Amino acid sequence: MAKDLVCGMEVDEKKTPYKTEYERETYYFCCQACKEKFEKNPEKYLK
Ligand SMILES: [Zn+2]
Repeated sequence: MAKDLVCGMEVDEKKTPYKTEYERETYYFCCQACKEKFEKNPEKYLK
């Protein structure tokens, strides 16, 4: 399982369609809203 860094939920990386790449890492999200929040300000969530 991967962790959604925006809301803290566990996400099944094989099933979720919500993912994004940032600095050659792939991050997974539970929903479109979390993905968009991360993409707007990735540094905020990577700390
Ligand atoms: Zn989420």
